[in-house]
Amino acid sequence: MKWTKSLIQTLRENPGDAEIDSHRLMVRAGLIRKMAGGLYTYLPLGMRTLKKVQQIVREEMDRAGAQEIVMPILQPSELWRETGRWESMGPNMFKVKDRAQHDYALAPTAEEAVTDVMRGIVSSYRQLPMTVYQIQWKFRDEIRPRFGLMRSKEFLMKDAYSFDTSMEAADASYMAMFNAYKRVFERCGLKAVPVEADTGDIGGKFSHEFHVLADAGEDGIASCDGCGYAANLEKAERKALGAGVGAGECAGVEMIPTPGAKTITEVSKFMGVPGSAFIKSLVYLADGKPVMVCVPGDRDVNEVKLKHFLDAKKIELADPATILEYTGANAGSVGPVKPAKEIRILCDQELKGAKGAIVGANKDDHHLKNVDLDRDAKIAADDYADLVIVRDGDICPKCGKPMAIKRGIEVGHVFKLGKKYTDAMKGVFKTNELKEETMVMGCYGIGVSRTMQAVIEQSHDKDGIVWPTSVAPFAVVICLLDPENAEVAAIAEKLEADLEAKGVDVIVDDRVERPGVKFKDADLIGFPVRVVVGAKGLANGGVEVKRRADDKSMTKVVPPEAALETVLAAL
Ligand code: ATP
Ligand code: MG
Repeated sequence: MKWTKSLIQTLRENPGDAEIDSHRLMVRAGLIRKMAGGLYTYLPLGMRTLKKVQQIVREEMDRAGAQEIVMPILQPSELWRETGRWESMGPNMFKVKDRAQHDYALAPTAEEAVTDVMRGIVSSYRQLPMTVYQIQWKFRDEIRPRFGLMRSKEFLMKDAYSFDTSMEAADASYMAMFNAYKRVFERCGLKAVPVEADTGDIGGKFSHEFHVLADAGEDGIASCDGCGYAANLEKAERKALGAGVGAGECAGVEMIPTPGAKTITEVSKFMGVPGSAFIKSLVYLADGKPVMVCVPGDRDVNEVKLKHFLDAKKIELADPATILEYTGANAGSVGPVKPAKEIRILCDQELKGAKGAIVGANKDDHHLKNVDLDRDAKIAADDYADLVIVRDGDICPKCGKPMAIKRGIEVGHVFKLGKKYTDAMKGVFKTNELKEETMVMGCYGIGVSRTMQAVIEQSHDKDGIVWPTSVAPFAVVICLLDPENAEVAAIAEKLEADLEAKGVDVIVDDRVERPGVKFKDADLIGFPVRVVVGAKGLANGGVEVKRRADDKSMTKVVPPEAALETVLAAL
């Protein structure tokens, strides 16, 4: 391929809306071009990488025994209504009408569609297990599309779905996908770590997100170097230190006025006491029923853990009227003081043994100090549980070492769904005793376009992208410095042909440009191997071969006859 025949445009300037390196580099290297917010054109270089990532995904899915299909993007609302997701998906789903005013969704995912396909085909246990997948465009009306392909409105996803006869059988299908994912990311040159994720109503250990660790990641992950435990912040647990909260042994409870101070920060400033001495109390509605949740003053409630502990379908902060009704005070002065009206009080496990703590008094503009949760009968917990979001330095629940919070980019997600969709949509089969049973499902997504950008986020330097060969748009660039010199051009042509014959993707930079411009572009786009063919170099010993990832000092100069061999070795 010749550069002068390709649609390549590199840019010197960073795009104004790009906040992270990989986004800047994708645009500057001419891989993608923005059309509108969250919508991108894949230019030829970007398309080449996207196809390579797709191919790796396809090969590993096939190897794991999954069958490729492709389902419509435009999906009738009836399917989505069967599971209730036409409504519950909310504004995230793009909805359109046809000329007859029928409603359709632009698929954000495809559990309903695939369940519809499978219920129409599978009738007997003999046809199971079966895993199908597609690589198809997905649409989501993200609140904040950003970071280029990381969070876009339209993106390429590989979505696979397994169907099994039993919960146990489904675990095997899950593990096959889990292992395939490890190979996919490895082959893309990515270090992606499986991280435990929330399993929703299913429970158990069968939901993992694959994260690429990067400062630019949008997700927080608690991870332990001691034993390898890793979980996203929704799910992450911790061992409580048992040190309790507060200043320690204390005199009797005392009510103090705290006029106008509402937040922990305000009250702590007013009283001159650190936030960690406080017990923060919030009133939630769990499926409509009020519950008070208390956590250390400098901690945040983990609503996912709370939801599971209460076995609730929906958790939300209570409205001001409910708070006042159940506690006798307004938010900001609320505390675990047995209130006028019966309300369950849940405390985080770290509050066990709290002494000398400060709590809201359930009286507007008042707090109680010298609180001892064990001693003071009127101030007490009905239950203790792990209810907070884990933070840096918290103790690993598995091995007791301190954990660190890292940032991650979610590139894939494997999830055991159970019968959630097959129950709702009657996806059934007959057992060998001709009994009707519901199929057990798993779903498995890879953000193909996000993965492509994650590779760049993990592998770049100040000059540009450093592609792993497996997904580079071209493995080799030949910088032809004197394109008008027939002799020099012939050497480049021959090397190009020889490399192509070996199945290597190669591009010849045959532009009439200064060497500096060519080298800058080669570094920016990040071809794994660069060969320089020029009259001056040839007179001084030959052609230059250098790997993008290597230092200048490792450049090899070899006679043209040895170029092919040297490039292959460098790859
Ligand atoms: P996120 O938490 O990042 O919004 P998600 O959990 O909603 O993602 P899934 O429904 O699990 O995403 O989709 C499978 C995969 O699709 C994700 O792991 C991610 O790699 C990719 N993905 C999801 N949303 C987007 C998006 N808006 N743009 C690009 N890729 C996306
Ligand atoms: Mg996910």
